[in-house]
Amino acid sequence: MLNCKEMCEKASAFHDEELNFYQRMRFKIHLLTCGNCQQFIKNFKLSIAMYQRKNEEEAKKNVTDEKISMIKDKLK
Ligand SMILES: [Zn+2]
Repeated sequence: MLNCKEMCEKASAFHDEELNFYQRMRFKIHLLTCGNCQQFIKNFKLSIAMYQRKNEEEAKKNVTDEKISMIKDKLK
């Protein structure tokens, strides 16, 4: 059985689906029985989603900046 410390260490690998079947099962079994880790994984997923959304916004902003400078170049 995994302990909570190992759960924290494997959270990223679990999310990225880098664990094998056996490791995933052990991870999920601990998750079913441990409220602390359920909360931890929930927060972990939320922070990843927020990070990804932020990156997407940055990407959009970069494209817009590129387009604006392209337009400026054409107006010269
Ligand atoms: Zn736990």
